[in-house]
Amino acid sequence: MSGASVKVAVRVRPFNSRETSKDSKCIIQMQGNSTTILNPKNPKEAPKSFSFDYSYWSHTTVDDPCFASQSQVYNDIGKEMLQHAFEGYNVCIFAYGQTGAGKSYTMMGKQEEGQEGIIPQVAYMEIYCERVRDLLNPKNKGNLRVREHPLLGPYVEDLSKLAVTSYTDIADLMDAGNKARTVAATNMNETSSRSHAVFTIVFTQRKHDNETDLSTEKVSKISLVDLAGSERADSTGAKGTRLKEGANINKSLTTLGKVISALAEVSKKKKKTDFIPYRDSVLTWLLRENLGGNSRTAMVAALSPADINYDETLSTLRYADRAK
Ligand code: ADP
Repeated sequence: MSGASVKVAVRVRPFNSRETSKDSKCIIQMQGNSTTILNPKNPKEAPKSFSFDYSYWSHTTVDDPCFASQSQVYNDIGKEMLQHAFEGYNVCIFAYGQTGAGKSYTMMGKQEEGQEGIIPQVAYMEIYCERVRDLLNPKNKGNLRVREHPLLGPYVEDLSKLAVTSYTDIADLMDAGNKARTVAATNMNETSSRSHAVFTIVFTQRKHDNETDLSTEKVSKISLVDLAGSERADSTGAKGTRLKEGANINKSLTTLGKVISALAEVSKKKKKTDFIPYRDSVLTWLLRENLGGNSRTAMVAALSPADINYDETLSTLRYADRAK
């Protein structure tokens, strides 16, 4: 992977109980890195095919030789991104997709231990309707200010950053933060997630050279982003607050899509800069240092297997396709 290009993966989960109760058919097929979707409304239409860095088949069970487990996803994407963080790059992993498609499942998945000797700091925030909330200090209510440091770039003022010494500490903080997350019921799923959750690990590597007695420090930021559900407001019967949330979510997801495709273009043409619309949403502005320039990005798009979600799943595949 070179420049700011993005690693893109898609992953299809098993049927959920709603899909099973509706006797859903599976409309996704995967072979190698290609993913195909069939149009259940028009079975004669040629299946649409997409190719990604990884197509993860998690629709069946472990005994299926094609089954992609949590550890496989971690080994392919997590480890590579961690390696980049060790090299000093900022890294960012996004989970995109319709509510209930498996974003949180993929993001909160098990992570390997073996991080001794590193002193990372963890911050966990939520972006809801373009407002930033601290998930590690829920008393720190509401709207934190987003500011820009002349050298270090955009940051959130007063956001808690807690020191951790082990993976257990990180998992505990993630747990506490998740409990504080804003969720609201929609017709799609009763715990529909309407905010973006950004979990950031500030990863500091210190080296001491005994001969010269000099210490050096390498700092990189790892951001794990569980995006708000990508379903369009109209398919969830949204009104009032829900509709406003939907508009904000669409705006930041659209901006994120534009930023990622603009960066992909820049890296393909090997051009230095084009206009990248980071400032059009709080999400992209705060992630600026994790997206452009000296950074490595991966996106996992989560898919429902079911015919009843055809429109949303196709739009997720198209979004993932534009990020390549
Ligand atoms: P989202 O974060 O996209 O709203 P979730 O990750 O909460 O969706 O997934 C919805 C449900 O589906 C959860 O109960 C989750 O455990 C299950 N699920 C999602 N992906 C998988 C998978 N690959 N394998 C098994 N179960 C999954």
